[in-house]
Amino acid sequence: MTAARITVDTPLDTVLGSAGAKALVTQLDIATVGELLRHYPRRYAERGRLSDIASLEIGEHVTVLAEIRSVSQRPMRQRRGKILEVVIASGGRTMSCTFFNRNWTDARLAAGRVGLFAGKVTTFNGKLQLTHPDMLIFGSDDVSGDGGDSDAGVIDDFAGAMLPIYPATTKLASWKIANCVQQVLAVLDDPPDPLPEVIRAERGLPELATALRDIHRPADRGAEERARKRLVWDEALAVQLALGVRRQAAVARPAPACPPVPGGLTDAFDARLPFELTAGQREVGETIAAELAGQTPMNRLLQGDVGAGKTVVALRAMLQAIDGGRQAALLAPTEVLAAQHVRSLRELLGPLATAGELGLFGGEAAENATRVALLTGSLNAARRKQALLDAASGAAGIVVGTHALIQDAVSFADLGLVVVDEQHRFGVEQRDALRRRSSGPNDLAPHLLVMTATPIPRTVAMTVYGDLEVSLLRELPAGRSEIATTVVPTGEKPAWLERVWQRAREEVGAGHQVYVVCPRIGGSDEAGTGLNAEPDAAGEPEDAVPQDAEPRRPSLAVLDIAPMLVDGPLAGLRVGVLHGRLPGEEKDAVMRQFAAGELDVLVATTVIEVGVDVPSATAMVILDADRFGLSQLHQLRGRVGRGAAPGVCLLVTDVPAATTARERLDAVAATTDGFELARQDLELRREGDVLGAVQSGRRSGLRLLSLLRDEAVITQAREQARLLLADDPQLAGYPGLARMVAELVGDGRAEYLEKV
Ligand code: ADP
Ligand code: MG
Repeated sequence: MTAARITVDTPLDTVLGSAGAKALVTQLDIATVGELLRHYPRRYAERGRLSDIASLEIGEHVTVLAEIRSVSQRPMRQRRGKILEVVIASGGRTMSCTFFNRNWTDARLAAGRVGLFAGKVTTFNGKLQLTHPDMLIFGSDDVSGDGGDSDAGVIDDFAGAMLPIYPATTKLASWKIANCVQQVLAVLDDPPDPLPEVIRAERGLPELATALRDIHRPADRGAEERARKRLVWDEALAVQLALGVRRQAAVARPAPACPPVPGGLTDAFDARLPFELTAGQREVGETIAAELAGQTPMNRLLQGDVGAGKTVVALRAMLQAIDGGRQAALLAPTEVLAAQHVRSLRELLGPLATAGELGLFGGEAAENATRVALLTGSLNAARRKQALLDAASGAAGIVVGTHALIQDAVSFADLGLVVVDEQHRFGVEQRDALRRRSSGPNDLAPHLLVMTATPIPRTVAMTVYGDLEVSLLRELPAGRSEIATTVVPTGEKPAWLERVWQRAREEVGAGHQVYVVCPRIGGSDEAGTGLNAEPDAAGEPEDAVPQDAEPRRPSLAVLDIAPMLVDGPLAGLRVGVLHGRLPGEEKDAVMRQFAAGELDVLVATTVIEVGVDVPSATAMVILDADRFGLSQLHQLRGRVGRGAAPGVCLLVTDVPAATTARERLDAVAATTDGFELARQDLELRREGDVLGAVQSGRRSGLRLLSLLRDEAVITQAREQARLLLADDPQLAGYPGLARMVAELVGDGRAEYLEKV
C-alpha cells in the first residue's frame, strides 16, 4: 500500500490516528493538518532563559518552563488531608504549585529538576499559584501523574533549543500539541508556495514550507523571526486582497448621478441653517457633493469626534440625493437614536420636511419639501404600514430606521444614498449587503456614507475600513463647552460618592439635567439569559471590557440603582429610566421627556452612548466606570457639554489605585483626545476581535497580524494587493493566492474562489 500524500487538507486522524486527533478537535476545533500547522506557538521557552513567571496573567491557562526549588508536604488546616506544595522558579521569580490529597511522592519532583508546568493561574495569599498543574519533568522516563506517554521524548528533542509553547487548554497540554505537530511535520509533503517567486525574493521572505516548519521548530531566534515575517506577510496580503476584491465589487455597478441642483432643496436648506458651517463641514461637504454627482458609487467614511456636526453633513448629502430625484436612508444602531435623528432632521429642515402637510407654511415650502419617515421595529401596525408605504412610493425622501430593519424589510422607490451612523457597530459584511441593494429600476448601486465618532487608527482604517475612503472632521463647531472628567474612587474615598449626588442635585438646581449610566439593565428575569448585556449597545466585542479572573460582584444595574436614588440621594427629583429592554415607544417617550426637561435625571445603560443630543444635560455619572471600554467612555461623556454650560463627567469606580483598570480611567480623565484613547483601546482589546470584522469565515485564520506592530507590513501589502489586482482582478492566474485568501480571511463569498 502506498502511503497517501499528506497535505494541508489531510484530516488529522490519518496522521495521528482517531484517538490522537480527537483531543485536537474537541479541545481546539482543529481537524486538518493545515489547521494544526496554523496553530502557531504563542511563544518559545528556552532553557537557561527562565524568564517565564514574570509575565503571567491571573486567570489565564499558562505553560511555564521552570526549575523546581523545593517540595514540601503539610496537613491541611480546615479539613483532613495533605497539601503538596512544589515551589518553582523562573527568571528570579517563584510561584507555587499545589496539589490537594495527592499522596504520591515522586522521585521526579526533586529540587533542581526542570520541567513544564501547565494550569490556570490563581492567587492565594497574594502569591501566584497553579493548582493541580499538569507537569512534564525533563530527563525522566515517565511523565506526570496523569498517565505517562511518550511526550518526554518530544521535549528532550528540544533540549537546548527553543521550546514552542502553544495556546493550550486544561485538557490538552502544550507539549501534547507539540507532539502532534512533530508527527505531522515528519510526514508532511511540503505545500506549494502560493506567493510568486518574485515577490518572495523582493521581500526576502522564506518559502511557505520552510516558514511553517520553522515557526513550530525554530533552530534559533533568527529562523523564528524569518518564519514569522513570512506568515505575517501572508496574513496582511490576504486581508488586502480580500478588501481589494471587495472594493472592486463595490464600484462594479454604476450609481445614480445626483449633481447639485441650483435652487433645489439643498440650497433652500443652506439658506435657513441657523449657524455657519465649519470649514471642515464645508470641505467634506464638497467632496461628498462631487462624488454624489458622479456615477461611481461613493464609499466614504466620515469620521468626526462626538459633537463635530456630522449630522448636518449627512443631511446635506441626503438632500442632494433628493434633489437628484432619489431617496436617502439613514441607518442608526438603536431605536432611540433613530427616533432622535428623525426629531433633529425634522427640526433642522423645518417647513422643508412638511411635504403633504397642508396649510401650515404656505405654498412656497410645499413645492420643494420632502418628508422624513421613521421605521423601527416597535411602531404600531398602522404607523409602520404608513412608513413602509412612504418609502415604497417615494413620498418620503428620507427614511430613518435601525440597521436591521432597513436592511431587510423595506423597499424603496428609488434609493440613491445610504447613510450609516455610528459605524463601529456595523461590519464589512453589512456594508456589502447594503451595496447589493438596488437604486431604482436600472440596477444602480446606492451611494454609501458611513459616519463614526470613534477615531480610527491608521492600521484599522486600512483593514477593517479598507473598503472605504476616509474623510475627517477635525474641528468642533465654535461655542462647544469643556467637559471636565474626574475619577471618583469610592474604594479609597467612600465619602466622595455622596458628593457625586450632591453635585447632581446642584446641576438640576441650576436648571440642567443629569445622566446616570450603569453597565447593566438588571431585573430578576435576566439571570443566565444573556440579557445582562444591553442588547442595543453593549456587548460589542470591540468594546468588551477585559474579563476579570476572580469572580467579581455583578455590575451595577439600572433597575436597582434608579429606585435607590429616588428613595435616597436624589429624592424629590424627577428620575426616568432608559434601557434596551423597554418597548420602543416607551424609550422614545422617555427620551422626549428628558429632552423637553420633564425629567431631571435619566438612569440609563449605554443606549445613550451614541448620538443622543440633549443640550441642557450637563452632568454624567458613570457607575462602575471600569467596566466600560475607553472609547465607550469617551462616547458616553460626549453626551454632555453639548450646550452653553460646561459639562462634567464623573467616573465612579471601586477598583483600587495603581491597577491597569484605574490607569485606563485616569487616561480618560486626562485627555479629551479621542484618537489617543482609541489607540490605547486598541492596545487593550484583543486584536482578533478587531480584525475579526474583516473576516466572514467561521474561524479566523489571522493569527499573527497585529494592528499595533505591523503598520509597515500592512501598508506594503496594500500596495502589493493593488498591483496584483490591477493586473488580474479575479486572481485567475494566482489560484494559490486566491486559496490563501479563502483560508486566512475566510472570504468564501468572493467570486474568484469558485474558480479555484
Ligand atoms: P455628531 O458629529 O456627534 O453627530 P451632531 O451632528 O449631533 O454631532 O452635532 C452636534 C450639535 O452641533 C447639533 O446640535 C448640531 O445642530 C450642532 N452643529 C452642527 N454643526 C454646527 C455648526 N457649524 N455650528 C454650530 N453648531 C453646529
Ligand atoms: Mg451623531
